[in-house]
Amino acid sequence: MVAENVPCPVCGLDGSVCGIMPDGRGIGVECKRCGVFGFSRTAMELIQRMQGEDLQLLKFLSCHIRQQNSLSITPFFLHEDWQVFAGSHQNTAVSAKISKLIDLIASHTKYPGQEISLESNYDYPLIDASSLNEMIYLMNHLTFSQLVQGEFDSVTKIHRVHGELLF
Ligand SMILES: [Zn+2]
Repeated sequence: MVAENVPCPVCGLDGSVCGIMPDGRGIGVECKRCGVFGFSRTAMELIQRMQGEDLQLLKFLSCHIRQQNSLSITPFFLHEDWQVFAGSHQNTAVSAKISKLIDLIASHTKYPGQEISLESNYDYPLIDASSLNEMIYLMNHLTFSQLVQGEFDSVTKIHRVHGELLF
């Protein structure tokens, strides 16, 4: 059974696809923000019952999944093991987030000054940010520091960036 356009069990974004994995070992999810991942039925039930601090930690599971996907790895979570993976992204230093953002821009850019678009509302887990607002804040830091030129479209939630001085 495949359910389309349902809220993502990790980040809550509408439009994800959930279904029983082809090998039957759990629930597979595709989310534009979190990426592609799987949960055992036990892990899925635990996540659906979560409250309080655990929900704060869950935000950072998006970071783990997206960054694993960028290495061509599809994470599968068995029970509460997700907490360890999420926790490893929870306390990332601001300087490391800025470095990840610079790397993200560089990964989209073939030459200095090339204009690129970042779908910031979906891509913030790639830099261990916990929200779109944090991504905007960090991008503004790069802009004010004159490391990049760019602007944010609040309607499309896309950053258009020229990687002027980064390379
Ligand atoms: Zn998600």
